[in-house]
Amino acid sequence: MSFIETDEQKELRKAVAQFSANYGEKYYLEKARAGEHTTELWEEAGKLGFIGVNLPEAYGGGGAGMYELSLVMEEMSASGCALLLMVVSPAINGTIISKFGTEEQKQRWIPGIADGSITMAFAITEPDAGSNSHRITTTARRDGSDWILSGQKVYISGVDQAQAILVVGRTEEAKTGNLKPALFIVPTDAPGLSWTKIDMEIVSPENQFQLFLDDVRLPADALVGSEDAAIAQLFAGLNPERIMGAASAVGMGRFAINKATEYVKTRQVWKTPIGAHQGISHPLAQNHIEVELAKLMMQKAATLYDLGDDGGAAEAANMAKYAAGEASVRAVDQAVQSLGGNGLTKEYGIASVLVASRLARIAPVSREMILNFVAQTSLGLPRSY
Ligand SMILES: Cc1cc2nc3c(=O)[nH]c(=O)nc-3n(C[C@H](O)[C@H](O)[C@H](O)COP(=O)(O)OP(=O)(O)OC[C@H]3O[C@@H](n4cnc5c(N)ncnc54)[C@H](O)[C@@H]3O)c2cc1C
Repeated sequence: MSFIETDEQKELRKAVAQFSANYGEKYYLEKARAGEHTTELWEEAGKLGFIGVNLPEAYGGGGAGMYELSLVMEEMSASGCALLLMVVSPAINGTIISKFGTEEQKQRWIPGIADGSITMAFAITEPDAGSNSHRITTTARRDGSDWILSGQKVYISGVDQAQAILVVGRTEEAKTGNLKPALFIVPTDAPGLSWTKIDMEIVSPENQFQLFLDDVRLPADALVGSEDAAIAQLFAGLNPERIMGAASAVGMGRFAINKATEYVKTRQVWKTPIGAHQGISHPLAQNHIEVELAKLMMQKAATLYDLGDDGGAAEAANMAKYAAGEASVRAVDQAVQSLGGNGLTKEYGIASVLVASRLARIAPVSREMILNFVAQTSLGLPRSY
């Protein structure tokens, strides 16, 4: 791993930063408050090759890796446009389909995911399973060569913007009758699939939904990869998900620190700008250090993932997601504090990030579940649950 980005990576970072600054947080918040989507931003990002930068060139992607995709996510988020669908569509779904899909599935979905003309949501969370994904009950049964899928999902992002959803369900093992996970591509217009919007307090142009799968009939080729190896396939998508969760949080932390430093350089209520007071400058310096450290772990995770070291990437991706979530929550809180009353206004655009920043502690995997992972996997401690 080099600590210095290549010229291509530097250029990509610069290009994404310039592109997303043209939209920025004002655009993002206006869209969110109007109940609209950031369609122009998504389409342009797709055309410029940013969304599919990690996907194979043979299917219209950029042929780079998770390092580059996380860099895109970080820069978009740093300009105030942290789109959750970047985590879901190219990082989780694009990765899983391009690694395990059939030739036909790759040709059908990857070019569209890469250029943004297809958006694919991802559904694993269930109301009665939550963090315990082993408890999911969405079940697929065979009917001739078709699959019939039934169950419920919750907090599924962007279903209203998606053409399809990658649904994690279960199939019955012929010998034992035990249920094992399997992945299905469900078009959003499939009969039997319905959803209701969940009212969230997050100011975001992307919405969350509860999904109802009521005997949804799917053709045989809806199954992605092997019926018997879904855990491995799922994990291929979950490391990228965590790396992208970290990238989003790192970007959000940078966004907050930038806002605060710009403000405290000029705001003056005593003899000097408030940024000269160490009660203001030291916490911001700490926030900067914490965000940079989290970013380093994120880059390590992405590098290991791109090198094919899934085990090493899993530990680093979990740690990066944890560190970035904590750093960004603290940075956003400190940014609000640094702006005083203005920190809570709509005009200054930082208060809205308070709730959004908490997401990095909860999803895609909670802070506590990461601590469980590190305690058990890195430290070898026994589990309590
Ligand atoms: C905005 C948003 C978008 C989302 N998008 C998606 C999506 O697109 N697709 C999708 O599938 N899911 C999505 N999710 C779901 C998200 O992944 C879950 O919310 C998350 O995994 C936590 O599950 P839960 O909410 O059921 O919490 P619970 O599992 O009920 O946990 C509640 C609390 O208990 C703690 N806890 C649980 N078990 C343990 C334990 N063993 N030890 C210690 N603490 C524990 C948790 O850490 C948490 O703090 C989204 C969620 C949000 C909020």
